[in-house]
Amino acid sequence: MNRNKSAKTTRRLALCIVLTLALIVNGSFVTGAYAEQYAASIGTQNYQTLDQALNAVKDGETICLLGDLVTGSQTEPGIINKPGIEFNLDLGGKTISGNSQTGVLQLKSGKVNLYNGQIINTNSGTPALAVFGESSKFIFPTGYATPGTDASQWNIPAGYHINFNNDGNGTVHYGSPTGPLVPTETGSLFAGGNIPHHFYFVPNTGYLVGSLVVNGASVPVDNQYTVLNLTKDQTVRVGFKIITFAITPHAFTGDAPADQGAVISPRSAIVPYGGNQTFGISVQPGYKLTNVVVDGVSKGPITTITLTDVTKAANITIQLEKTAFFIMLDAGHYEYYNHSPVVATYYEGNAMWILHKYVKQELEKYPGIIVDTTRPDNSGAIGSALGPYERGAMGKGYDLVLSLHSNACSSGAPNYVVGICTLNPKLTTVSKGLALKLVSTVSNVMGISQLPRIYTKAQSDGRDWYGVNRGASDVGVPSVILEHSFHTNIQSALWLLKDANLQALAVAEAKTIATYYGVSKSGIVLAPKTPTSFDAYGSAYNQAKVVWTMSSGASGYQVYRATASGGPYTKVKTTSLLSFTNTDLTCGKVYYYKVRAYRTTDTGNKYSNFTAVNPARPIPAKPGVNVYASIGKAQLKWTAVKGAQGYIVYRRAGTTGTQIRVKTIAASDVFQWTNKGLTTGKTYTYQVRGYRVVSGKTILGKLSTPDIVKIK
Ligand SMILES: [Zn+2]
Repeated sequence: MNRNKSAKTTRRLALCIVLTLALIVNGSFVTGAYAEQYAASIGTQNYQTLDQALNAVKDGETICLLGDLVTGSQTEPGIINKPGIEFNLDLGGKTISGNSQTGVLQLKSGKVNLYNGQIINTNSGTPALAVFGESSKFIFPTGYATPGTDASQWNIPAGYHINFNNDGNGTVHYGSPTGPLVPTETGSLFAGGNIPHHFYFVPNTGYLVGSLVVNGASVPVDNQYTVLNLTKDQTVRVGFKIITFAITPHAFTGDAPADQGAVISPRSAIVPYGGNQTFGISVQPGYKLTNVVVDGVSKGPITTITLTDVTKAANITIQLEKTAFFIMLDAGHYEYYNHSPVVATYYEGNAMWILHKYVKQELEKYPGIIVDTTRPDNSGAIGSALGPYERGAMGKGYDLVLSLHSNACSSGAPNYVVGICTLNPKLTTVSKGLALKLVSTVSNVMGISQLPRIYTKAQSDGRDWYGVNRGASDVGVPSVILEHSFHTNIQSALWLLKDANLQALAVAEAKTIATYYGVSKSGIVLAPKTPTSFDAYGSAYNQAKVVWTMSSGASGYQVYRATASGGPYTKVKTTSLLSFTNTDLTCGKVYYYKVRAYRTTDTGNKYSNFTAVNPARPIPAKPGVNVYASIGKAQLKWTAVKGAQGYIVYRRAGTTGTQIRVKTIAASDVFQWTNKGLTTGKTYTYQVRGYRVVSGKTILGKLSTPDIVKIK
């Protein structure tokens, strides 16, 4: 018996056992009437006589005896002739006996597995089980010696019980997940010995297998369990548990990091299968709820999200828009930090704490500005625990980080204001732009004659040396460290000690910031600045990419396009991102783009001026090319270019020779070519480009990066 056969045989065997037990357990099996009517069954099919079942049985199937049986008559001759097959005969706890003339079962051909019952011979002349064919065989359960064929009576062992328990939230099946149901809380009988019995656990909808305990010991949870060598009764306990889903809605505001601007309650929830869940959204000042998207479906600006009959982890996106300008204000160091060596009562940490409170107060007089601070009090415990980098990174999601300081040096002479800007190329324009305005303002208010300075400093990896700037830069926010001159200078240290001076500074600094970002004190949000840098170029055969720099205070950007530089221009995209890929364009045609920033206000959008116009011409992108040198030839391979209808190969001698076209391949699906007849030891440079024919005109794609080879 091969392994497959073994498994198959066992499955069929158990099917019979299980069905029988199930019928008895369910009470639908009326023993007397049923047994009189049918002699045997195969699966759910019943047969009047065993002989009929023997005729019907196929390889691997199980005949189950439904009542005691006497063979040797015309209807039950007791002759088995099933060439080339092996099947099971489950005696179902019943008895087969022969009549007085014959034996019980005569096996002419095939193999029969016998189980679970008794065979009684009533004829002393003929063996109870007679085997004729060479490969015919009666097979008894593993672990039991095959009795001699002349015995007059055999009790054929049944096997062992496996008692399945479960909590009712799923079912146990034999042989396959759709195989016969194994009753639970009832010890079902299975053939003993080294025959694998495979059981499958099928959870009810909304459940999964949660625990598996075999003979009192936990085993790894699985959807199946196999008994390999059944030599004693067993107990298998299957625990099903309800499936749950962890659901965490997220709020997004344009490009800003997630989960600012709205308090979501609960923050997250574990929802059982089929359960309901409600989330509440409380929109924070300075934000506007624009939409809620649940699993890709827009629900509008709802503040209560109700999920019912949850059957999967819902993906909830809360879309917000900023309606204000957000500043993270940092008072620099903490109380009694940086004592002035020239003015005994001056501490940088004390003066800047007072100043930052005034600055916050003044900034908040602009209804379009929202200010938060990096720490709640000026104690050294909080101040020293919170490093400069952390304070800068607290600006995550804000529009600006401003850190207030007074400077120090070994000499008392320096007396000038310094604005320390970020080096981050994406943020430096705004940082520097604002710093220039602020140092000028502070210098004027403080009445300092030494010229203010703008300063940057890099650490070895090129990032900002100053922690506040590095932290802010890492969260994508422009920052300025503002040094209110030097507290090592008597004049400035004394000036900064006066409360009225600090108040005047705060008014001027707030005004400078508001003006720079275009926020008016009457609550009117002014237009954002025009993006300072803007570019457009063909990025594929039918695409153009448009990129621009951030405009501080912008809610988003509008991209306009025309087919002539003078227009007319039409709006092709509104986005909060800093780039846009325009698709479905015509290859080789020139398009003209311009961009403007806008701010959303309660009274409609405020727009910046348009950028200058930039043309873009969609052409096939450049392929990736590899050239391999071999003896007297160069083999080129390149990557497919979208939209290319063919490829052109160029070559130059050495790296500076005149470039010549050496091959045109007019096929979109050929990505290699071998240049033969080359001189050994010579160097060549190759480039490849795709092309596309549009209205009879060949549009050349971008040339690949040159690849140099030396011929072998
Ligand atoms: Zn400082």
